[in-house]
Amino acid sequence: AAYREGRESPLPELAVQYADYAMWQREQLRGQVLDRHLAYWKEHLAGAPELLELPTDRPRPAVQTYRGAHEGIMLSGELLARLEALGRGEGATLFMTLLSAFQVLLGRYGGSEDVVVGSPISGRTRREVEDLIGLFLNTLVLRTDLSGNPSFREVLRRVREMTVGAFEHQEIPFERLVTELQPGRSLSYSPLFQVMFVLQEAERSESSAGNLELRGMGAGSSGTSKFDLTLFTGRNTEGLTASLEYNTNLFDRGTIQRMLGHLKRVLEEVAADADVRLSKLALMEDAERRQVVAEWNATDAAYPRERCAHELFEAQAARTPGAVALRHAGGNLTYGELEERANRLARHLRGLGVGPDARVGLCLERGPELMVGVLGILKAGGAYVPLDPAYPGERLAYMLEDSAARVLLTQASLVERLPAGGATVVRLDADAGEIGREGGERLGVPVGPDNLAYVIYTSGSTGRPKGVAMPHRPLVNLLAWQEGSGRAPAGAVTLQYTSISFDVSFQEIFSTWCAGGTLVLASEEIRADPPRLARLLEAERIERLFLPFVALQHLAEASVELGIAPASLGEVITAGEQLRVTEPIRRWFARMPGCALVNQYGPSETHVVSARVLEGGPAGWPLLPSIGAPVANTRLYVLNQRLEPAPIGVPGELLLGGDAVARGYLERPGLTAERFVPDPFGGAGGRLYRTGDRARWLPGGEVEYLGRTDEQVKIRGFRIEPGEVEAVLSDHPEVREALVVVREDAPGDRRLVAYVVAGESAAVTP
Ligand code: AMP
Ligand code: MG
Repeated sequence: AAYREGRESPLPELAVQYADYAMWQREQLRGQVLDRHLAYWKEHLAGAPELLELPTDRPRPAVQTYRGAHEGIMLSGELLARLEALGRGEGATLFMTLLSAFQVLLGRYGGSEDVVVGSPISGRTRREVEDLIGLFLNTLVLRTDLSGNPSFREVLRRVREMTVGAFEHQEIPFERLVTELQPGRSLSYSPLFQVMFVLQEAERSESSAGNLELRGMGAGSSGTSKFDLTLFTGRNTEGLTASLEYNTNLFDRGTIQRMLGHLKRVLEEVAADADVRLSKLALMEDAERRQVVAEWNATDAAYPRERCAHELFEAQAARTPGAVALRHAGGNLTYGELEERANRLARHLRGLGVGPDARVGLCLERGPELMVGVLGILKAGGAYVPLDPAYPGERLAYMLEDSAARVLLTQASLVERLPAGGATVVRLDADAGEIGREGGERLGVPVGPDNLAYVIYTSGSTGRPKGVAMPHRPLVNLLAWQEGSGRAPAGAVTLQYTSISFDVSFQEIFSTWCAGGTLVLASEEIRADPPRLARLLEAERIERLFLPFVALQHLAEASVELGIAPASLGEVITAGEQLRVTEPIRRWFARMPGCALVNQYGPSETHVVSARVLEGGPAGWPLLPSIGAPVANTRLYVLNQRLEPAPIGVPGELLLGGDAVARGYLERPGLTAERFVPDPFGGAGGRLYRTGDRARWLPGGEVEYLGRTDEQVKIRGFRIEPGEVEAVLSDHPEVREALVVVREDAPGDRRLVAYVVAGESAAVTP
């Protein structure tokens, strides 16, 4: 009282009060009271996520840092009045209403339905401490369940109930809670919660549950941030202030400004209609929505829509018949020679009934015959089904049968390995005489861009691989884009490295041929031997190279070690899994200043849909480059589970649309309908492919890859559904249960590991 009246310094008195209070508090917390509170918190926080994984602009440092800044906005008095009215209608305080909206926002940002935040309270419900000025802050842990796509009104009810409970059990010091609950202690983030919510009340009001108050705290102007984020809200004469204090090692200013905009939008949306379901909250203003849905996807470009891929080759062959199309250990094949040989094969296949959409199994060792085979099948109007002879025989037989291949194109030495089933077998070597008697002129086949070019199999989670049925048009679009955007000169000398089981090989082969370039065949031995591969690049003056990330990594290591940096190399294109610019890659490219590294992204169901070019000094390249922006006539959408667009920076599932999308899975209408869904953004009849990849838009209009939404993995470039392996293992009579995971026991060495519960009679030999 003396202090309030200005007669005495507050400090000695406060010290006395503090000591009193601390003693009182210790007493209170003893015994049953404490037990009861603890039991509440243990139950309330059981199974809560330890970390709210917000999409940060930079990776989280191993040890938490506290550098901070803040950004604020002002919300109108009118909006505030509507929010207060909404709360009143539900018997909720403004604190609860704002907390609800904030947690909904965090849930969307973090892709989580279980959102925990902290909130400071002053404990001033106790008469004994009423005169204190907010020194004895305690922190409440507020956990909200957002599951089941509830309406906002329902969330508000949940928050009210949760807050009342938390408040009733507030008399446990936060530090004690941490000691008791022993959350997994990471040094990189604060325990139990990482985001704080504060409603600052200027005036004292009747303390009641949920009217949590705080004085003496404000958004730090001190350049620090105790948590990842703290939202400070407060009423003033104009309305409601909202200020976000953020950790500057995690977030950029622009991200925080956008987040505040999204918060404002959520508050407006729920004030307008409290019954809106969470999935329907737009978060974005119309302009931002237009940007992510339309502007960044404005990729329309002309290309030969009515042509087939092999016709592009034919046009090139007519232009430069004498140029070398293929170089291999045994010599060269000119465009003219290749054209003629492929024509003879096409005629032979036509004679066996191959035509539009007919599948032809293609099982050949690497070599010029394989290239002739691909081209010949397309020229006959058919679709090739790559059957890599290195794959297990059973797998090959399955693909041959599942694709209902009419013909199997192979070689004498492989016939034994492959039960042809109903397919007619053509051996390119042994039957060469017969094929050679066919005419060398081009055939007229009624095949169009909607007919299939190939069927490529990928792992299926239920145990059966599925064939992606890919027509010509998406491929021709890709080739046209590639030609217009390549960094290496048109008609570059390109290594034929990729296995034809991967869609990349199509791009590699046909983007070279359609531009008059030369394809250099790498033998199987050289492919598997990075030092020899490096030397080959130099000796053959390779200008362009496609290879999966793991192979690139090995090649870079070998090249750096051998001091090989081919001056000819202008473009290295990598795809298939997340690109990491590792040290060897950085060092290798530093020695090839004229060479760009291109990160291309796309699943087999669409082929390449986005690209990011890394040029200039690799010192400036990010460790994890984005997957870039959509390629021509392709659209990328980052959507939530209900297929609503996610704002910039907010993760969602990546869906792909436009001309890139394949026809579907061969003879699998159910699976096709599940993954190829109607396109809600484009014209009628358009479809989107659901990739199962997690991604988000970056502020500059590029997409960042964030991993998978499911179990699918990549091991050395192979796309694998662990479920497929589990299903096969479980079929074994002695296996009761099976689980397959990826383990990386040695860094960089990712392996599939299976765990099984053996049946009773199974003998286990250690
Ligand atoms: P696939 O059908 O074998 O081409 O595998 C496609 C999957 O590989 C995609 O859905 C991604 O998960 C992954 N992937 C392909 N390219 C990239 C890339 N550049 N960055 C990250 N992931 C990639
Ligand atoms: Mg791919």
